[in-house]
Amino acid sequence: MFKTPFKNEVVEIRGQKIGLGQNKLIKIPVDRLPTGTLIEIPVYVFNGKKAGPTVLLQGGLHGDEVNSIELIRRMLIDKNYKIQQGCVIVVPLLNVFGFLNLSRNMHGKDVNRSFPGSKKGSLASRFAYYLMKELVVNVDFAIDFHTGGAQRNNYPQIRYTDQDKKAIALAELFNAPFQFASKLIPKSFRNECFKNEIPVLVFEGGESLRLDELSIKEGINGTLRVLKHFNMISNTVKIEKQNTNIVIIKRQWIRAKSSGLFSLKVKNGSKVIKNQVLGHIMDTYGETQLEVKAPYNGYIIAANNFPIVNMGDALFHLGKI
Ligand SMILES: [Zn+2]
Repeated sequence: MFKTPFKNEVVEIRGQKIGLGQNKLIKIPVDRLPTGTLIEIPVYVFNGKKAGPTVLLQGGLHGDEVNSIELIRRMLIDKNYKIQQGCVIVVPLLNVFGFLNLSRNMHGKDVNRSFPGSKKGSLASRFAYYLMKELVVNVDFAIDFHTGGAQRNNYPQIRYTDQDKKAIALAELFNAPFQFASKLIPKSFRNECFKNEIPVLVFEGGESLRLDELSIKEGINGTLRVLKHFNMISNTVKIEKQNTNIVIIKRQWIRAKSSGLFSLKVKNGSKVIKNQVLGHIMDTYGETQLEVKAPYNGYIIAANNFPIVNMGDALFHLGKI
């Protein structure tokens, strides 16, 4: 699937060379706080003894999407996942500012709308610039880990670019519970990688600021399936059984038709049928109860967990196969 000679024979990041069989922690300086404190992106490089594909595993592009950070942390500390072939470049937490401020953004700007970035731009733009220039240039593909927004829980899912055949093949290897093509968003990481012919899988699981064990587990298992396929980790590594891997063809957000208290009647990830009641919106005085129904047969791929909704709020993401 990837061109030889493989890029990992010598990986160069910020002027430091990492040869076959070497591991290194590299800190890429990007900014100084007004207090003078240096801000760096910590990057772990695990280069196997043999040539093979190089993958970027990226967490916390959005600083409040904690599942992405936690699942990478768990993989980092597990000694079973020693890289024997190819190279894994790991960014456990890209958006350190967002993480500190419990925010998706970096100084008010979304890094994922700041690509390709610039050396002299805003902080978000500089992060984007160094990510492409120092890291993406070294990789054959990337897995970018995310979660749903506040209170909206994404059932573990992989998103990819429809025109990118390699990304589709990687999504099948990852084998998340759901997978689907999603449009390229201008100035996003996936869009910039697509322009540079680097396939990207975007993993979405859970919601921001809340750890979700299922999403963490699925994110790790999928990543291990991909690494194992390319013989990057030992074939003795145990991975939980494959999912049914449902490919979603069409998607639609079901929104609140009125404001009120929202009660969820179905489980996230479940199969639903046309006209099935998915939830109720009630006024606070108990006078009205509005049913929220499924417009077609499908799967709930994201659900709103917040009990107070305004008209127009997204309640369910419904996928059709
Ligand atoms: Zn995100």
